[in-house]
This record gives sequence, C-alpha cells and structure tokens, in this order.
Amino acid sequence: MMEKILDSGIHDMAAMAFEKHRLRTFKTWPFNNSCNCSTKNMAEAGFYLIASEDSEADAVECFYCGKQLDGWEDSDDPWKEHYKHASYCDFAKLKKPEIQLTVEEFLNLYHNALKNRINKIIDAKIVEAQNHHQDVLKKYKRDYKKIKN
Ligand SMILES: [Zn+2]
Repeated sequence: MMEKILDSGIHDMAAMAFEKHRLRTFKTWPFNNSCNCSTKNMAEAGFYLIASEDSEADAVECFYCGKQLDGWEDSDDPWKEHYKHASYCDFAKLKKPEIQLTVEEFLNLYHNALKNRINKIIDAKIVEAQNHHQDVLKKYKRDYKKIKN
C-alpha cells in the first residue's frame, strides 16, 4: 500500500508545498505578469499549473487542499478566488505568502498537505476496492443463478 502511495506522485506533490516549485510549473500560463493572476501571485496563493491536453490551459490546483480551478480572468485575485471556492482550505484561510510564514506554520502546512494527499489516495483506493468487490459479488450471484437453474 505504501509503495502504491509513493508511486502515485506523492513526492511531486510534496515539492508543490514550496512556492518556487509551484512557480516553475507556470511555463505555459496564458496571462502576463501585469495581471492580478500573474504567475507570481498564482504560485504565492498556493496554485500550480496542471493544464494538459485533457484540461483547460489555465487549470490550476492548490498544493494544500487539492482544489482545481480554471476560467481565470485578468482581474482575478488568486487569494480571493482560492478562498471563495475553497473556504475550508487552511492555506487559503491563513492567506500568508511563503516568505511571511514562520517555520512552524510552514512545517504544519507541509505536514497537513501531505496528510490530505495521502488521505485522498487512500479514499480513492477504498472506493476502487469497494467497486471491485461489488462487481465480483454480482458475477458470483449471476453464476450461482445459472448453476441453480
Ligand atoms: Zn487550497
């Protein structure tokens, strides 16, 4: 189980707790640096770019709560949007750029971000296992009916 969690990119996720790593993901960001949603402001507010062929060019995710947002506009304030769409996010609630965090605050955020990620992975695995269990059960019930009749 632990190997599977580590295989599912948890190391990359952990790196996203650092603003400089988040900033590096914004290579294809469709907004310029004079916008409220500049790459600097986006990374500061906890976001990193997750845009791919399957998603919007401005799709981002919070390193802490995992909230995904797209459809950005020049005037959007990343901190405000973050809190508006994920008011449960402790990082968005704190609203502190990394440089202003105490070491204790940063370590708590880092620890909880990892915990959130691992919990999400485990939850997804549990759902996967439950679905598999249901499928197997259905198959056995069908087979049993065939044998019985
Ligand atoms: Zn968040």
